[in-house]
Amino acid sequence: MNIPPSSMCPGCPYRAPLAAMNRLWLRAIAGGGCSAIGAQRPFLAVESTAGKGAAPAALASALAAAPTRRGELIALCGAEELDPEGLAALAACGGVALAVGGGSCGELCGRSRVGFFVCSAFDIAAIEAALRAALSGDSAAVVFCRGECASGAPKRPTVYAINRDYCRRCGACLRLGCPAIAGQRPPVIDPALCAGCGVCAQVCKCSAITEA
Ligand code: SF4
Ligand code: SF4
Repeated sequence: MNIPPSSMCPGCPYRAPLAAMNRLWLRAIAGGGCSAIGAQRPFLAVESTAGKGAAPAALASALAAAPTRRGELIALCGAEELDPEGLAALAACGGVALAVGGGSCGELCGRSRVGFFVCSAFDIAAIEAALRAALSGDSAAVVFCRGECASGAPKRPTVYAINRDYCRRCGACLRLGCPAIAGQRPPVIDPALCAGCGVCAQVCKCSAITEA
């Protein structure tokens, strides 16, 4: 299969959720819009797309056919895609959905009796912990990653830079699919493209990436 390279924007709120999914070896059925970007390199975390608002129901069908996949297969969608019908399907199958976006879907989850975790869409460790907690139970849950689409959000006041003296050329930052990071020896961040999300700094074990 010819898998295209990522076309993800700098500052995309799906980057950290997909990085957290990769750490946990999770795969997803995506909904509409940008959630399908997880099928591209470097994340390769989306195995199919169901269309706008249809990811929870598609997950329910997949888990009905293969119940042992509950710990490795989730739904991935925009927070605005969640609705009572989708949450009812999630509740019935006991699955986990990762919802990304602004606003909140907590009240909707509460009414649907679906567990709810909330974290920043730009915090890989927090998302990973929330996913672990959601998957450790046996009932339905939504992990809500709060973060606005980079194309609509105001640009953050800070940008990030790589200190070449600390960089070990491991390539971890390059595997986030951020178009602001380029080059190899060492990589460099283009300040004109960087949206200041800070996700790349979280994967650098050498503390080489800091605010400029
Ligand atoms: S993650 Fe850090 S050490 Fe690795 S290539 Fe990027 S800046 Fe260098
Ligand atoms: S902080 Fe890092 S991951 Fe975020 S936009 Fe800038 S270069 Fe890309």
